[in-house]
Amino acid sequence: MEVLDIVIIGGGPIGIACGLEAQNNGLSYVILEKGPIVNSLYNYPVNMQFFSSSERLEIDGIPFISKEAKPKRDEALEYYRRIVTSNDLHIHLFEKVETVKKLNGTFTVNTSKGNYTAKNVVVATGFYDLPNLLEVPGENLPKVSHYYKDPHFYAGQKVAVVGASNSAIDAALECWRKGAEVSLIIRGPEVGQRVKYWVRPDIVNRIEEGSIAAYYNTTITEIHPDTIALNTPDGKKNIPNDYVLALTGYRPNFEFLEHLGITLSKDDKRLPKYDPDTMETNVDGLYLAGVICGGMETHKWFIENSRVHAKLIVQDIKKEKAII
Ligand code: FAD
Repeated sequence: MEVLDIVIIGGGPIGIACGLEAQNNGLSYVILEKGPIVNSLYNYPVNMQFFSSSERLEIDGIPFISKEAKPKRDEALEYYRRIVTSNDLHIHLFEKVETVKKLNGTFTVNTSKGNYTAKNVVVATGFYDLPNLLEVPGENLPKVSHYYKDPHFYAGQKVAVVGASNSAIDAALECWRKGAEVSLIIRGPEVGQRVKYWVRPDIVNRIEEGSIAAYYNTTITEIHPDTIALNTPDGKKNIPNDYVLALTGYRPNFEFLEHLGITLSKDDKRLPKYDPDTMETNVDGLYLAGVICGGMETHKWFIENSRVHAKLIVQDIKKEKAII
């Protein structure tokens, strides 16, 4: 079996950037992606608009032209797909990496479809697969979702949106504009300060005028088929409810990182150990790229500040090759 220079796990924007960088530097590589190209972006809400302007989402200086300064999800899908197809990147789709083992300096990567061997592995698996759960009774009812796609479905329905950051606020506004009766359930005292600066006044005004009900300092304690139970500063409350959108963020797959032998910090942040100059982890030849680097601090890394990881990693691998 051919021993590749690099196996890249994850075909998100940063995995793709790593593949392109490897290709431009004459290294052999494959990107293994468990879903379609840029799976996370594909699963974002259909009307989602990035907070970054398009040039900040560019890979390798390839121009990203968008209608408005900040592109929409469909424009980003178009952009990253065209990078893959027009550069003939080696990407295997719908192929999930299950285990990675290292023996005598070579990694064996087992997937849902086969095996690969490589001198180096880059983990660019993001954090969008595992939602932060509410961990309350009723969370597994079919009316509860941790992902939001499209507002049309919720027209005429009583929708509770849990969360106070961008995903929750976008969903609350969109659903309300399409005729849903929206209640926002916010654990803290206010709408998140990191909500996009052009969206925050919109939600604050909708709450102030009474169009969207906001429950601050409130948590859901139980979900029933027709109601939800809340713990509010004024005591316990039951409100009628048809659907719950629990948009309380996502977390990296820490079990997978631990399986790979990567050391995680013992505090709540669970930061993976890596050298920020090379992105190499405590395991020789095993690198991290993209938002996976932030542990529980999922807001710390995004496309615009992590696309540089591709260059750092490939430079380091080339340096190692030169020494050998
Ligand atoms: P991802 O895009 O998450 O890619 C990881 C990939 O790995 C996925 O395709 C996944 O399917 C795959 N994968 C996972 N496990 C495996 C496995 N075992 N085997 C094979 N494949 C696997 N960032 C910005 O810079 N600007 C923005 O405006 C912005 N807006 C955002 C809006 C929302 C609603 C969200 C949720 C995020 C936003 N981000 C933004 C963050 C941005 O999406 C991420 O920065 C970006 O997706 C990170 O790219 P990535 O390649 O590191 O991870």
